[in-house]
Amino acid sequence: MSLRFSAIESIAKETGDAPAPASPKITTIFNENVFTLKTAREYLSDEAYKSLATSIRGGKKIDRTVANQISNGLRAWAESKGVTHYTHWFQPLTGTTAEKHDSFFTLKSDGTAIEEFDGAALIQQEPDASSFPSGGIRATFEARGYTAWDPSSPAFIIEIGHGKTLCIPTIFISYTGESLDYKAPLLKAVESLSKAAVDVCNYFDKNVTKVTPTLGWEQEYFVIDEALATARPDLIQCGRTVFGASPAKGQQLEDHYFGSIPERVYAFMRDYEQEAYKLGIPLRTRHNEVAPAQFECAPIFEEVNIAVDHNTLLMDVMSRVAKRHKLVVLLHEKPFAGINGSGKHNNWSMATDTGVNLLAPGKTPKTNLMFLTFFVNTIKAVHDYADILRAAIASAPNDHRLGANEAPPAIISVFVGQYLAKVLADVEARVNTKFDEQDEAILKLDLHRSIPELMLDNTDRNRTSPFAFTGNKFEFRAVGSSANCGISMTVLNTIVADTLRKFKTDVDALIEKGDKKEIAIMHVIQKYIVESKKVLFEGDGYSDEWHHEAERRGLPNLKTTPIALDALLTDKAKKLFESTGVYSHTELEARHEIELEKYIKKVQIEARVMGDLAINHIIPAAIKYQNQLLNNINGLKAAGLPETAYSSQLEILKKVSEHIQVIHTKVHAMVEARKIANNIENSRTKAIAYESQVKSAFFDEIRYHVDKLEQLVDDDIWTLPKYREMLFLR
Ligand code: ADP
Ligand code: MG
Repeated sequence: MSLRFSAIESIAKETGDAPAPASPKITTIFNENVFTLKTAREYLSDEAYKSLATSIRGGKKIDRTVANQISNGLRAWAESKGVTHYTHWFQPLTGTTAEKHDSFFTLKSDGTAIEEFDGAALIQQEPDASSFPSGGIRATFEARGYTAWDPSSPAFIIEIGHGKTLCIPTIFISYTGESLDYKAPLLKAVESLSKAAVDVCNYFDKNVTKVTPTLGWEQEYFVIDEALATARPDLIQCGRTVFGASPAKGQQLEDHYFGSIPERVYAFMRDYEQEAYKLGIPLRTRHNEVAPAQFECAPIFEEVNIAVDHNTLLMDVMSRVAKRHKLVVLLHEKPFAGINGSGKHNNWSMATDTGVNLLAPGKTPKTNLMFLTFFVNTIKAVHDYADILRAAIASAPNDHRLGANEAPPAIISVFVGQYLAKVLADVEARVNTKFDEQDEAILKLDLHRSIPELMLDNTDRNRTSPFAFTGNKFEFRAVGSSANCGISMTVLNTIVADTLRKFKTDVDALIEKGDKKEIAIMHVIQKYIVESKKVLFEGDGYSDEWHHEAERRGLPNLKTTPIALDALLTDKAKKLFESTGVYSHTELEARHEIELEKYIKKVQIEARVMGDLAINHIIPAAIKYQNQLLNNINGLKAAGLPETAYSSQLEILKKVSEHIQVIHTKVHAMVEARKIANNIENSRTKAIAYESQVKSAFFDEIRYHVDKLEQLVDDDIWTLPKYREMLFLR
């Protein structure tokens, strides 16, 4: 029996009583496995606690003696929970997380066994990291990489089976100081944003000393039966199906979105949620998504660097917990053709240390002007740096999603809703060169009066925009489901930081010329609205009209990763990232190189998997079917029946033969195209060759013929689980 049928049989026997944990009150388990400041208070001396607390708030570095006290406290806490090992936990550019476990156990020189975790081991480690991508940085500088403790993200305990490991969040850098991970640049971008935003806040409120970007991600994913997934080598190796005919029923009824969560999946959800709560991940919502077998979860938003850690951690936890339920989580952007893909909406805003959300409309005319300032600066940032924002979400898997079913296009535009669009138009029209104090007072009051309408506007949702204002935050929707949101958040915070800095320079220049502060601010806001309004779009982002309109407006529409990544190497990008201190030129070039390499490898793997499946699964099944048909035809002939009796069989036989022939020829041609691409030295040219000469030239065509065969060949001999099974059996 093929794996496909044994999988289907095992699902039929599945009782659905997978170990769903009892549900304790969330508050009793929340943060159970996190070294929060509250826990730290119990385990640390006053001195160590204070030092840790200030360093979390972005204050002074922790010195060695205090580090020893903290590491001892951490070990005591961890051991009280049965932990034997620790690891520096980091997010290398592979896109997954990395850890290398060391035990607390050690031997003294006289052979006495002790448990130990000293400050040095807490602060810095040197993983043998030569196999992590570095884009040539380490080769160039012959430097090793090391991980350095990031006290701003709390340590936590990961439980795998009965094993427990203390994880120390770290950043990963080369010995010459270049960052090799997603976290180090993010922390720099956060700092840059805070500085620029505080300066602008101080026009309105002198008490603001820190601004923190906030992130609430919405994670979409598919869940399918593990046995079925195991019978699909493409899912196992690429995370997506490279073949598969559309089932009779897909998502056209949209009944999944409104339906109740299937029991097995529900048990899985409750299980991973509990793991998440223990790790301090504040999950809030869970629901079905539009496509069959697709779901979503979202937490309460947090400071961006914690939110990024939590998302990365959760993706890991989900994948592990799924195994306990004999399920597989697919985080890929497009696991199934023809139905929706998965995204990771990044809800983003900025919060002051005085407790104000800078993207929430204010309560007074003055705070509304502050809101308008940050709102318009964000739009201007997206307008000026749309190409870099696009590059931040570029990846081989996201190329399958952007512009496909119900996914935002590759064109970056901003949706603000009709009332805010009106406010912007109003400011644009009324703030002219003769704009005086009286005009300003009236306009400010008018703006203030339109706030109730803005609040109503919260419900005015445009689901087709890649970057939408949703009442008190922007929602970057083009981010891929499997991405580390550190990349998009690094770029977003950097471009807004840069724009706010320019804003301050522009406002100060006008004040110097004699403008009153608020009039100067109004003037610059007006100028920014004029300069960036072509990025605003309120219509249907999925429509063809928008593609034409965007082209007319001169907005870039970069559909493939190798080209979209070019934006990282422009003079504009170099200047942006260098002046904000986020990436040096070397680091930027390295990122570009790494992303290209990842792209090439992913397309290469998919092409190989396609070839393997075609030659080892598809064609053999089709040949078996041909033989069945032949036997039948010959038998009928031998029985002396007229040709009409077997003409249909002949027709099918002919079709099957044609498909086999095309598949066989194309797979071989694709191998040749790969060979040519592999010989290209330059990564960009090579990636473009993989995109155009391998992927675009062959993937769809081979798939077309395979999917046709799937619909012709006897179901009994088809070895790969079908869409209807993967999407609907559980
Ligand atoms: P939806 O977009 O599905 O309607 P919500 O608007 O309720 O859902 O929220 C989506 C996400 O946005 C949640 O994670 C929520 O915590 C987050 N969010 C809400 N306010 C902010 C904010 N000020 N900054 C960042 N994220 C936020
Ligand atoms: Mg949302």
